[in-house]
Amino acid sequence: MPELPEVETVKRTLNALVAGKKIEGVTVSLGRIIQRPADIDQFCDALKGHTIQRVERRGKFLRILLDDLVLVSHLRMEGRYGVFASGEPVEKHTHVIFHFDDGTELRYKDVRQFGTMHLFKPDEEWTLPPLHKLGVEPLSGDFTVERFAAAMRKRRSFIKPVLLNQHVVVGIGNIYVDEALFRSGIHPLRPADHLSDEEYARLHAAIVATLQEAVEAGGSSIKSYVNGQGEMGMFQHQLQMYGREGQPCIHCGTLIEKTVVGGRGTHYCPLCQQQS
Ligand SMILES: [Zn+2]
Repeated sequence: MPELPEVETVKRTLNALVAGKKIEGVTVSLGRIIQRPADIDQFCDALKGHTIQRVERRGKFLRILLDDLVLVSHLRMEGRYGVFASGEPVEKHTHVIFHFDDGTELRYKDVRQFGTMHLFKPDEEWTLPPLHKLGVEPLSGDFTVERFAAAMRKRRSFIKPVLLNQHVVVGIGNIYVDEALFRSGIHPLRPADHLSDEEYARLHAAIVATLQEAVEAGGSSIKSYVNGQGEMGMFQHQLQMYGREGQPCIHCGTLIEKTVVGGRGTHYCPLCQQQS
């Protein structure tokens, strides 16, 4: 699933490719992608004649800002965007097509069909799902050690699911949580509210550094993920923990173990990340 660095890359690519383009019509061939409004024809009609101003990101969501409308898009497992000339053959699993008045199209393809789109009036998106209860942006100035530690101390759960649930901090998913916990030497099954001040500071720094490095590398290419231009991110070559079960830890040489935490495959070094 694309996480903050991958969505950031898609955002940048889309800004380069579709900002300034005017929508002439929309075709939806899989209704369940469109979560708001409930009526698909209403969704298509509302977007007609509107121009894309720019694309922004909130957590793992894309916010496609149009004149007087905001389209919130979540790629979930395998959603991806591509820009094509209107005559080009439409690939299988393409579910939504935004037809522009310049003869090009923005196509949304999603093999797993888990992606979502919500259409709002400007600023309405902050008051309703899916954006209304999101935590702080980890690469913003609002993400301070103090605020992070205070939020974590209120959570009575294992640390990994708390970092995944998007209420404390947004944008990190299974890959970058495993990386950040390893970098900070914290076991994924430690209770979120029981770290020391020094550990909260270390974890905070690891989250920021991991995400920053991954954004600079254009994200990771995990399974089918490519950015909006069909380019692969490069950060998978820098992953120290995710997907490396059975291989030696880069710090101590102990073999990396894989377990399941909150239903998610979880990688950790049993020596560097002690549970107690
Ligand atoms: Zn180790």
